[in-house]
Amino acid sequence: MTDISMFIDGERRAATGGATFERRNPLDGKVATRAPAGTPADAVAAVDAAQRAFAEWSQTGPGARRALLLKAAHALEARADAFVQAMARETGASALWAGFNVHLAAGILTEAASLTTQISGEVIPSDVPGSLAMGVRQAAGVVVGIAPWNAPVILATRAIATPLACGNTVVLKGSELCPETHALIIEALAEAGLPRGAVNFVTNAPADAGAVVEAMVAHPAVRRVNFTGSTRVGRLIAQTCARYLKPAVLELGGKAPFVVLDDADIDAAVNAAIFGSFANSGQICMSTERIVVDNAVADEFVSKFAARAQTLPLGDPREGPVVLGSVVDMSTVERCNALIDDALARGAKLVCGGKATNTLMPATVLDHVTPAMQIYHEESFGPVKAVVRVDGVEKAVATANDNAFGLSSAVFGRDVARAWNVAQRIEAGICHVNGPTVHDEAQMPFGGVKASGYGRFGGRAGVEAFTELRWITVQTTPRHYPF
Ligand code: NAD
Repeated sequence: MTDISMFIDGERRAATGGATFERRNPLDGKVATRAPAGTPADAVAAVDAAQRAFAEWSQTGPGARRALLLKAAHALEARADAFVQAMARETGASALWAGFNVHLAAGILTEAASLTTQISGEVIPSDVPGSLAMGVRQAAGVVVGIAPWNAPVILATRAIATPLACGNTVVLKGSELCPETHALIIEALAEAGLPRGAVNFVTNAPADAGAVVEAMVAHPAVRRVNFTGSTRVGRLIAQTCARYLKPAVLELGGKAPFVVLDDADIDAAVNAAIFGSFANSGQICMSTERIVVDNAVADEFVSKFAARAQTLPLGDPREGPVVLGSVVDMSTVERCNALIDDALARGAKLVCGGKATNTLMPATVLDHVTPAMQIYHEESFGPVKAVVRVDGVEKAVATANDNAFGLSSAVFGRDVARAWNVAQRIEAGICHVNGPTVHDEAQMPFGGVKASGYGRFGGRAGVEAFTELRWITVQTTPRHYPF
């Protein structure tokens, strides 16, 4: 069991009043982490500290900001073993997934470091004689980042790295399900030597999340909010941000379609679908959730897909390497079991796997899924996958788009021009032709449409999200006025 602290104004802190909450291991129920149950007053103290640090950090030169972010990337990588252990204890994740998290999160910090010299502007022709007019990007102020547990190192690092690169100061609100994992990121940033108050970390008991978040959003120094998590909570945060007129980037749930056209390379499609469906037991916002396959190739695809799915190693990640570790909690098991029951009752065919009795869930494939079934519409966020059979390209596109979400997607077809045209018509922020739905790189514009949220992280899109675009003029000659 690990005891962790919040990090406010450069100091490790307990919650006001000393209250704590526990995160238990999903498999054996033992306490994994004890963390401070921060209060709204603690959250305000964190924003106050970030506000004080803003004057210095926003004026720190890009070279110095870059050097510190690069140091943080190395400090994060140096903690790889600690991340692997913390993620196995807190979320049941495999070492494979934890290692990938650390690798990509270090990449996000490295990319953020390179962005420090890209926060620029432009000279805009003015009709006023002698007016030098510029559009200038500037740090916005304090940025609040709220991150979930499922890709914990990547998503919490993403919540603060580009904001810091742009000269903002930040408060990260950790997930109740992985406070130690999130605290390790803050340790790496602190070790890199960012100035006091530039990075702050708040944790809270689950019941206090709404009050803690509202206290921060309401604080006048907070100028941007970013949230990665469920669509349900995303809507609540969007409403809170609207009340205080705070711009938000919302990265919410997904139900990624994976379209297999009649000319697809089936083996390549199966490899991509296996990876995209079962990495981290399907608990990724980009996870392949709906496999939309042309009837002409459906039998071959399903039999090869199920054969591979059945061989994926499943077990307690603390005991050795696995692909499928433990899912995050019994509510995932109950949700997925109910989706399986509903689909089977309405005529779906179970091809492999099935219902689970504990958090070690097998790779499960349901074939002949139809719109009458819940799994056709709802995020399973687990290793339970729906195959929907269709006839032809038009039906494939319509089925891919017949969903509230729109984050990631994929299309497989050998006629790349045809597949590209399908990709253009899919209503999702991200689409990969002949690649898996699970694909993230620090420099890419990452984000969704429809119920998957709005705004983009990554590269230049991240700079736009976390800076203020200002119009600044300099009158270089005497100005003529009408009176
Ligand atoms: P969640 O929405 O339950 O929780 C995420 C965060 O929201 C936590 O920090 C929690 O404290 C906070 N929260 C909870 N209730 C709140 C409230 N009333 N007000 C303010 N904050 C509150 O999400 P989760 O279950 O931890 O994560 C899984 C979800 O995240 C899935 O739906 C998944 O698709 C989505 N997700 C999206 C992306 C993306 O980039 N689009 C990435 C990963 C996960």
